Amino acid sequence: MRLCIAVFVLLVAVHCEELFNGDQVLRIHAESKDHIQVLKELEKDSGLDFWTHGFSTERPVDVRVPHASLYAVKDFLKENNISFSVMINNVQELLDRERAEMVSNTEMERNTKSFNFAAYHDLDTIYSFMDTLVASHSNLISKVKIGSTYENRPMYVLKFSTGGENKPAIWIDAGIHAREWVSHASAVWIADRIATDFKENRALARNVLSKMDIYLMIVANPDGYVFSHLTVRPFHRLWRKSRSVTSNPNCPGVDLNRNFDAEFSGPGASDDPCAEDYRGPSAHSEIEVTNIADFILSHGNFKSFMTLHAYSQLLMYPYGYTGSNAPDQPDLHDVATQANKALNSWHGTIYKVGSIFHTIEQASGASVDWAYQHGIKYCFAFELRDTGEYGFLLPADQIVSTARETWFALRYIMQYVSDHPY
Ligand SMILES: [Zn+2]
Repeated sequence: MRLCIAVFVLLVAVHCEELFNGDQVLRIHAESKDHIQVLKELEKDSGLDFWTHGFSTERPVDVRVPHASLYAVKDFLKENNISFSVMINNVQELLDRERAEMVSNTEMERNTKSFNFAAYHDLDTIYSFMDTLVASHSNLISKVKIGSTYENRPMYVLKFSTGGENKPAIWIDAGIHAREWVSHASAVWIADRIATDFKENRALARNVLSKMDIYLMIVANPDGYVFSHLTVRPFHRLWRKSRSVTSNPNCPGVDLNRNFDAEFSGPGASDDPCAEDYRGPSAHSEIEVTNIADFILSHGNFKSFMTLHAYSQLLMYPYGYTGSNAPDQPDLHDVATQANKALNSWHGTIYKVGSIFHTIEQASGASVDWAYQHGIKYCFAFELRDTGEYGFLLPADQIVSTARETWFALRYIMQYVSDHPY
């Protein structure tokens, strides 16, 4: 086995990430503890891009394999009697389609002077969308700058408030992992939906915004997001982390969702700068994490913290760092279960509900654990669509339906939190 893995390292290293031509995403099914052990070693030693984590016999794991390594990896899995299927046959094909759609959408938006919610947008376009939204709903929405990124981009939060000083508040962020584009796009749609609901005096405006403020951060990792949009080669559409320099000059970036001061450096995050879940040198070493944490602590009156990710269709609550139940586990589970029913009622999309630890995998330094440990009771992490047909490359024509069903769950949680003050 060791020999095979050494070959992978070589093959992956020589594969230049110019294009993803012929790269496949394999869905691997572990059926025993031995299989899990083999896969863990493969992840650790191969440098392959694992799209999902948490090796178990319950859930498959998805991994992108460069074209040059396909034969070796498939052979290795067969040798170890580990079954797999091809989830995406050619990653570059999906990327080309996505890029072409974005180009034609940009042209359409320019010609019609409109904003298309069923399209992916770059950071500048999202930021100008925010300005337009604020300008047309200035009685409700303001833009708050909470700091700047490592590469000196502004970090903005939209504040929805009907007035009053330091009201109890709800936090929602998206895009802390750059490549999870449907989370940013859903947050854009949701920002517009909150504004529309308020304007039309629908239930949320009446019930929630009369008692609470909502803070929505559409792009929690602006540097990573910009990097994932670069159109010059090499492409980095599948970038996950921040863009800060690390101790390894070849491997920049920290997994911001492993950098929070919540059992930082425990199991469930890597100390290797080249790993996708690299936790960083110390808790809150990343300016983006510091900005978010400082803002939430200085506000001091957040009652709910929610974060949008993709993909896998999961609605989760603390803890991620331990398998022990959080003190509020029964309550959190009930709220998540009801929110899931609300989500499912729209398109019938099936989510799984549970703690992060028991649903995906052990994860230390995660934002929801940090928020929960700082007294915010209603903490939830969403993994949006899909369950693996497209993974991170979800077609843009699924954005609005994804956002709408997510909205039903968010709305249920916000309503519940506003009805249950603590
Ligand atoms: Zn994520």
